[in-house]
Amino acid sequence: MIDIDSFIDKQLHCWTLAADNYRNLETVRQREIDADGAHFVLQFNPSRIRSTAAKISTADITKRPCFLCQHNRPQEQITIDWHSYDILVNPFPIFKKHLTIVSKTHENQTVLNYIDDMLRLAAEMPQMAIFFNGAKCGASAPDHRHFQAGNIDAWPLFDDFQRNSNLISSQNGLSIYETTGNFRKVYRIDIDNVNSADFVRAEILNLLEKYSRDESMFNLITTYISGIYSIYVIIRKAFRPTQYSAEGDAQILISPASAEVGGILITPREEDFLKISSSDIKNIFSQVCF
Ligand SMILES: [Zn+2]
Repeated sequence: MIDIDSFIDKQLHCWTLAADNYRNLETVRQREIDADGAHFVLQFNPSRIRSTAAKISTADITKRPCFLCQHNRPQEQITIDWHSYDILVNPFPIFKKHLTIVSKTHENQTVLNYIDDMLRLAAEMPQMAIFFNGAKCGASAPDHRHFQAGNIDAWPLFDDFQRNSNLISSQNGLSIYETTGNFRKVYRIDIDNVNSADFVRAEILNLLEKYSRDESMFNLITTYISGIYSIYVIIRKAFRPTQYSAEGDAQILISPASAEVGGILITPREEDFLKISSSDIKNIFSQVCF
């Protein structure tokens, strides 16, 4: 297993920017909201504005140096060398433990050929949920393949799913569940053996086909608990809701990615943090999820 705690401690001792941002996270304002039986935690986090408001058009991406490539990283940033990945501390955290797991090669953000890596990472750090944002729904570096990880106890989705889901199929040592009701469709694929990664890939492809999407338009969140790998699959209808680009009072700056579909809503602006209601959340998720 990878010793995440020592790694994060070591990094925060030698990088003031990251240490300040983790310290600020301890006192970040949070607010809880329920929407159709789903539980959300709003987090007022101004340091995330660069991510929420990230310009992700191809033109914008090609103009900037890639911040995940080794030669462009801050010199304070240390790494854990893990197979073909560098594990990094995310210096702009939304989780009290927040990692970015970056391919050593600069290549486009995809996951279907790397499901086994995601499962192995989950088993290497069972205190974390490993997540993937598709290139068109939350990845702030769609040109550089990466996963992220956030401590497993922060995600409201996992308990919600337990309460509001049904088993829809079970074969080949693989079980598939789906949420009941019409709010934020989430699937979960459970396996007990990393060698079943090919079956997981096939099931994800079935789901993408069902919703006419490709792998740029989903979020995956993987946990490893008591020997079971659980892969949550959230196929996306759209990336950002209309509120994102609305003007004046109608604007809400929320840019849904894995954390948001997992129940953690990051609001970099205080006005959004204060005003968002349960019906806004229902409206936003009806636009971005199926
Ligand atoms: Zn890169």
